[in-house]
Amino acid sequence: MRMYDVIYKKKQGEALTKEEIRFFVEGYVRGEIPDYQASALLMAIAIRGMNADETAELTFAVRDSGARLDFSDIKGLKVDKHSTGGVGDKTSLIVAPLVASLGLTVAKMSGRGLGHTGGTIDKLESIPHFNTSLSKEDFVSVVNEVGVAIVGQSAILAPADKKLYALRDVTATVDSLPLIVSSIMGKKLAVGDDCILLDVKTGSGALAKTLEDSKALASAMVDIGKRAGKKMCAVITNMDVPLGCAIGNSLEVIEAVETLKGRGPKDLEELCLQLSARILMLAKGLGLKESYESCRKSLLCGDALNVFARMVEAQGGDKSYVLDPTKFERAKYSREIYAKEEGYISFVNTEGYGKASLQLGAGRNTKEDEIDNTAGIILKKKTGDSVKKGDCIAVLYTSKSERLDEAERIFVESTTISTTAPQKQPLIYAEIR
Ligand code: URA
Repeated sequence: MRMYDVIYKKKQGEALTKEEIRFFVEGYVRGEIPDYQASALLMAIAIRGMNADETAELTFAVRDSGARLDFSDIKGLKVDKHSTGGVGDKTSLIVAPLVASLGLTVAKMSGRGLGHTGGTIDKLESIPHFNTSLSKEDFVSVVNEVGVAIVGQSAILAPADKKLYALRDVTATVDSLPLIVSSIMGKKLAVGDDCILLDVKTGSGALAKTLEDSKALASAMVDIGKRAGKKMCAVITNMDVPLGCAIGNSLEVIEAVETLKGRGPKDLEELCLQLSARILMLAKGLGLKESYESCRKSLLCGDALNVFARMVEAQGGDKSYVLDPTKFERAKYSREIYAKEEGYISFVNTEGYGKASLQLGAGRNTKEDEIDNTAGIILKKKTGDSVKKGDCIAVLYTSKSERLDEAERIFVESTTISTTAPQKQPLIYAEIR
């Protein structure tokens, strides 16, 4: 088989066979296929697309490119929740301990920030001494003891994705449905979970900007998960508005802890309850109402908070920060942003808010960049809120004052104030089982 012929076939819009897809993925991981040929195929896939069978084969080839974690020494029904990436999305910090407090097992592998979106691992690492790279033995022991542990993606898991993702990042092929599906599900299927809930974001801050694209992405991932024998559910959720009020690593951990204490922003609390209820439904076969009620009770009575604090401690983190979040270091510099006119916040470009937060130091521009844990944004007004001229709409935080002007410019450019109130948007647009 020749890579040239595989590229040519896809360029013509024809479907690739299982053998051709495996030849590409395995050859690329072994270093036998050069980046320029892999790039050409990725671009042909991005333009021509893939049918459901090809997308599934590509996903299974990514899954099989490295080790599989069988988790057979972890007790209980293993569940996972995965978000396609958003701004201010700290739901994993709340949902994982919440469902663990109800008897489910969460052995979670999460990612770091990607582009304008934040990552659970970066957030957790803002808790002093929290260890996100436990050995497999320690990971299993924390999960068995507490019911939940969250670590970074292991390098031995789906190595094809690591190589392909880096190539996609620099060849304008990130936003291709089959490539996103195979990247996310290839990694998920390499881990031995029984049930997977996907939170597919849609809107200005999401990877898939339209509802139609998000539904197609969700359906493809649910289909592949089912083909691999997993119990699957996907919800399409709103990312035209950042979740909660905090964007940035320690700011988001503080907000997650407040939510676990029942004092968080209502949109964040509600989405976490809806996601957790669906995980409970999938795992235990209960109805949605009953599942939602159990989750609400666990949140209100402090069980979920208790599990989160135990997980932080078991992973080496300083639990006192969870009990008293005022201990988190505060940013050295801050700047308030004021409304320049009266009206309503009618639209925000959520990706722009993510980029403003990145500019403040909450994410990386290059792989080597160090994260500023204190950097980010606290929103004082959100979409739909009315504002008077001179009202504070947000506060920017950073350790480097020279970052403030550009972050303010991006933030202001991403905020639209109009004289009429926008229509209220739902938190959840659709559900795919
Ligand atoms: N997250 C991933 O892991 N892969 C993608 O392609 C997009 C989001």
